[in-house]
Amino acid sequence: MTRPLVAQVDLAALKANVARVRQYAPAAKVMAVVKANAYGHHLERVLPALDDADGLALLELDAALGLRRRGEARPLVLLEGCFDARELPEVAAGGIDTVVHSPWQLAMLREARLARRIGVHVKVNTGMNRLGFAPAEVHGVCDELAKLPGVEIRTVMTHFARADEDGALEAPLARFAAACRGLAWPRSLANSAGTVRYAEVGGEWVRPGIMLYGATPFAGRSAASLGLVPAMTLRSRLIAVQSLAAGESVGYGAMFTARAPARIGIVACGYADGYPRHAPNGTPVLVCGRRARTAGRVSMDMLAVDLAGIPEADVGSDVVLWGGGLPVDEVAVAAGTVGYELLCAVAPRVAFETVAAAAAHA
Ligand SMILES: *Cc1c(COP(=O)(O)O)cnc(C)c1O
Repeated sequence: MTRPLVAQVDLAALKANVARVRQYAPAAKVMAVVKANAYGHHLERVLPALDDADGLALLELDAALGLRRRGEARPLVLLEGCFDARELPEVAAGGIDTVVHSPWQLAMLREARLARRIGVHVKVNTGMNRLGFAPAEVHGVCDELAKLPGVEIRTVMTHFARADEDGALEAPLARFAAACRGLAWPRSLANSAGTVRYAEVGGEWVRPGIMLYGATPFAGRSAASLGLVPAMTLRSRLIAVQSLAAGESVGYGAMFTARAPARIGIVACGYADGYPRHAPNGTPVLVCGRRARTAGRVSMDMLAVDLAGIPEADVGSDVVLWGGGLPVDEVAVAAGTVGYELLCAVAPRVAFETVAAAAAHA
């Protein structure tokens, strides 16, 4: 038996989520965000499901160049732009677009002598205060970029700090509108939360990430309620079953003690696989398709589940850590994090496979 832990990636789910993006933002072009190796789903694996996107956005230059080498013809955007002037010739030669968020990047473009024009996305800081030009600077920056012979402006863009909260978009939207007044370039404002709220947010482009993978961008709204389907199911099996007498414990630090006789299943999945070590007792798991709860501390290669109420569970039983039947967002809430982090953290040692929809959601 090979180690039974596997991350199953469901291309039909990804396609359905892209279609859902189109429903939310029918007027917009879709820049599918595939940074961090497609949020942990493996970029090459998910690409066939993203056929319907109009472009791809990421931050890793090597990955972008790899896509071009493999014949990807759509716009590719580096979301943090270039980190060093030495990257510019490669970026230009690859026909890769780059964000310009700071004066030092503007200076790099001013001084570059490029063999081929480079497409740029001008980033506006509308209150996130990480990257971007102040709204009042945007006209000047665009004027300068528009005059540079090696540069072509593709969009004026921004990224919201609180697109997932009610009432928190008006001020940044107003700042962005003021920054863009009189500028004719297409605008790009919406991440997943903004895409769901496209009617308010607008823009010629949207930049959905997490929703493509079927997890929610909102704290209080499930992915299912947004019409999204989980793209990854992290699946394993029980590799041992223990019978505990009342008062006996399981795992490091004896963090779970049975109050009554208990059956405990040991799952081949631990924090070295990307499962969060800080997931407490009671974090949801599916065993034989039924809800169970973790018991005790997550260790490097294993975790334990309480098999109460699942008498059919035994060595070899199917376990879903998250995915079909158990939203990653629920596990994330239990572990005090977000689905984004769990998906991105799936470790290199985990085997991946592409599945048909029926297998992932059986
Ligand atoms: C990551 C990222 C996105 C996608 O955000 P989601 O919340 O995953 O949809 C969009 N725009 C920018 C600039 C990003 O860095």
